Amino acid sequence: MNCKICGSDKIKTVYNDVIRNGGIGRYTSQPVPMYQCETCGTIWHDFIVENINDYYESPEYRALMDEGSDEEAFYINHDKETLEKFRYTGTDIFRNKTVADIGCGAGAFLDFLKGVASEIIAIEPSEPFRKVLKKKGFYTYAYTKEAIQRHYSKADVVTSFDVIEHVEDPAGFLRDAREMLCDGGQTIIGTPTDAPVMRSLLGEVYEKRVLFSVQHPWILSGKSLCQMAEKAGFRDIEIRYFQRYGIENVLGWCLEQQPRSDVKVPFFENEIDAVWRGTCGGHQMADYVVLYAKK
Ligand SMILES: [Zn+2]
Repeated sequence: MNCKICGSDKIKTVYNDVIRNGGIGRYTSQPVPMYQCETCGTIWHDFIVENINDYYESPEYRALMDEGSDEEAFYINHDKETLEKFRYTGTDIFRNKTVADIGCGAGAFLDFLKGVASEIIAIEPSEPFRKVLKKKGFYTYAYTKEAIQRHYSKADVVTSFDVIEHVEDPAGFLRDAREMLCDGGQTIIGTPTDAPVMRSLLGEVYEKRVLFSVQHPWILSGKSLCQMAEKAGFRDIEIRYFQRYGIENVLGWCLEQQPRSDVKVPFFENEIDAVWRGTCGGHQMADYVVLYAKK
């Protein structure tokens, strides 16, 4: 077997048990082996859902993830993530620009850009959400390939968060993102990564309950994102790591051995939390990785 990202034949099986299928507490009926490339660090499984496009368009998918296709429910779940996304992008690259967001859901992040961007291109496979996006006045498409037909080389900024880990072909995803960009345009793409601190503290408990899931065939590393971006023809490639989950979450996990068990002790908010997040990010051991690249 070879790594599907870098081609290396140094592959090891890092896990072989049931994995999460949808929201927390749902599992596959059979063990799913997870492989890791020792060269680029990518972790993946081959448990690919058939007709993946139909799957992501379906209400069944959102129900399995414990999320409906309801607009209001989407905002309740996702409005809180917008501040985090601005941590990755900053706020100074959007004014009077054409901005595309791939996999934007009902557009929680784009709503905040509406006041400054000149044009917004919303790409989202879920049909009920596309109706919402159209009503907001965004150019709306189910897939990037469709958006390219009208907006080839037109976008100044292409963002995408928590999407590339879902697709069959992440290298193709990056090539499509690049086609959307004008010369000099930039892309910012974020994805959960393997959180080595959590894995070394908690091992299989963490991997089984949260990290490994049917819906994420890929856990990409900074190295693999970088390689794919280079191959796609991007320049000025940069990788940054961010720790999304705070110290209260780690302690809760260690105490209860399960997700959503954050210890709520005010002592840990502020400085200690900032040190925890900063250290994870600075040592490339955080739970989220962001690719920055230009065309
Ligand atoms: Zn590899």
